[in-house]
Amino acid sequence: MSLNITQDFIPAGRRNRPGRANPMNFITIHNTGNANAGAGASNHARYIKGDHAASRPASWHYTVDERDIFQHLPDNEDAFHAGDGAGPGNRQSIGIEIAMNSDRNLLEATDKTAELTAFLCLEHDIPIENIVQHHRWSGKNCPQKIRAGRPYNWAEFISRVRNFMSASKSVSGTPQNITAEELDILERIVWAEARGEDERGQVLVVNVIMNRVNSPSFPNTIRDVVFAPGQFTPITNGAFERATPDAGIHGAVRRALAGADYSRGATFFRAIRGAEGSWHEQALQPLFDHGGHRFYTARAAGTAPSEPQALAVSAITAGSHVRLRVGAVSYDTGGAISAWVFAHAWIVERVEGDRAVIHRRADGSATGTDIRTPVHVKDLILA
Ligand SMILES: [Zn+2]
Repeated sequence: MSLNITQDFIPAGRRNRPGRANPMNFITIHNTGNANAGAGASNHARYIKGDHAASRPASWHYTVDERDIFQHLPDNEDAFHAGDGAGPGNRQSIGIEIAMNSDRNLLEATDKTAELTAFLCLEHDIPIENIVQHHRWSGKNCPQKIRAGRPYNWAEFISRVRNFMSASKSVSGTPQNITAEELDILERIVWAEARGEDERGQVLVVNVIMNRVNSPSFPNTIRDVVFAPGQFTPITNGAFERATPDAGIHGAVRRALAGADYSRGATFFRAIRGAEGSWHEQALQPLFDHGGHRFYTARAAGTAPSEPQALAVSAITAGSHVRLRVGAVSYDTGGAISAWVFAHAWIVERVEGDRAVIHRRADGSATGTDIRTPVHVKDLILA
């Protein structure tokens, strides 16, 4: 199971989005009370933005069914779900509704809610004792399914939340001590590499970086791993600098640092699109695909085409499409390279140690613009 949260917020200014600061002291669990076929998370996302919900007013933060999680409000805003007026249910808790419609799977929806609850507890430092039933605030028989023992009772629900929390914390052992600068680096690289991926796909990018930090084949700090020459394209194409990590990415990075680890030890990834025939496919051991990315590990000793250290340093090989780094000079003479060469992508003709020769234009355009220039491998960036 993985958390894939769709944010579809109630528009600001609606009567059921009061917008007061929510200190997030509690999490309140509900069942929707709506057993109609089709009344899953996406239907509630539509309902809560409509006039009926606004006029009551009624609102909460998440609706969960066995397939989807929709988030209707930012965690740090208050809502109208607890029936206690200006009390702590409405003003100080995050409200989660578990779908209970007959055409959906109540066990999976409730388990997914337990995982979401664990995630929110870790994200906002909410103690497990402060996960409460709607019943606590107003006496209403809610969450009615859990209170009736379906698919299991409240003690079991809390036990499953606890299990998700400890699984998330323990997977990669000791918590990492992360500086503010390192956190910023991780959030930017996740934005640049995986902003279109789901949360698991974003956690995976952090996992790969931390696996490298912990590997003798790679540098030993987050900064040195991310900024190693030729390793992360966003460092050289500007995406890292212009990154604007949002709350979702912030949460994914926090979750990875709290121990969530789906990587099976992967130390490389690349886009699945274009992977066929790539250096990654030839030199590495594929592990699994997730979203748009394929994850790899170094081949076992003796089967790799070159030393792991060399693999870590450069992905440039004959046939690679590359661009020149700003400031690149001729390998043989140390002399300047014409400015127009920097404006195009080139095909590597051959690599000998740290010397590479770039030859034809990668876009295959007109003759007369081909070159055969020796350059330092460290001055090449995969195009
Ligand atoms: Zn309720």
